Amino acid sequence: MTELLIPDSLILELQEIYQGMEKDYNRVARQLSFGCSGCPDNCCDSFFLHHTYVEWAYLWMGFRQLASATQQEILERSAAVVLACEQALRQGERPQVMCPLNEEGLCTLYSYRLLVCRTHGVPASMTRPDGKTLTFLGCFRCQKITDDLRLQGADIPLVERTPLLHRLAMLENTLLQGDRQRYPKVKLTIAQMLCMGPPALLL
Ligand code: SF4
Ligand code: SF4
Repeated sequence: MTELLIPDSLILELQEIYQGMEKDYNRVARQLSFGCSGCPDNCCDSFFLHHTYVEWAYLWMGFRQLASATQQEILERSAAVVLACEQALRQGERPQVMCPLNEEGLCTLYSYRLLVCRTHGVPASMTRPDGKTLTFLGCFRCQKITDDLRLQGADIPLVERTPLLHRLAMLENTLLQGDRQRYPKVKLTIAQMLCMGPPALLL
């Protein structure tokens, strides 16, 4: 297998996109006086699928920097998470299983975490290429804040995700050398991305 590696210029672009997402997130969180501190929940047990090769490859860049014993532990946890998710899905339930990268409440690969990990929490909006606009209300704690604000007649700030998602789609296209259609669609959990190994370049 030839590994799909991210050239340095594209790594910089991905990091800029991630920084942009964090900036937008922090702005809205500040406006809403919202934060995760003291939350009884931990979103890292939420079931999310991830959709880009570039994030998959970047996650593996971070994973490789961990000590080999840590990698081994995470891979074992990942295999267990994959099985638990499959079992829940077979029973028609939405899986709720802790991400294998979460260690005592903290993300082992914080600076390599994926887009969804960086955007979940505050209200957001995005317009798909077909013109349909999707809105996200934010997590249950944030919704309590926005519900109260609505009752007071206040405007609710939100993150407009479209421009940065568009940049991410362009970046993905560049990484796949404009040949995106040839690659199978990515629809994977973090645990699956780790169990499957880094993504492969199609020759
Ligand atoms: S995003 Fe919301 S639910 Fe998740 S940890 Fe933060 S406050 Fe809690
Ligand atoms: S990658 Fe990190 S932030 Fe994202 S779900 Fe896993 S532990 Fe949580």
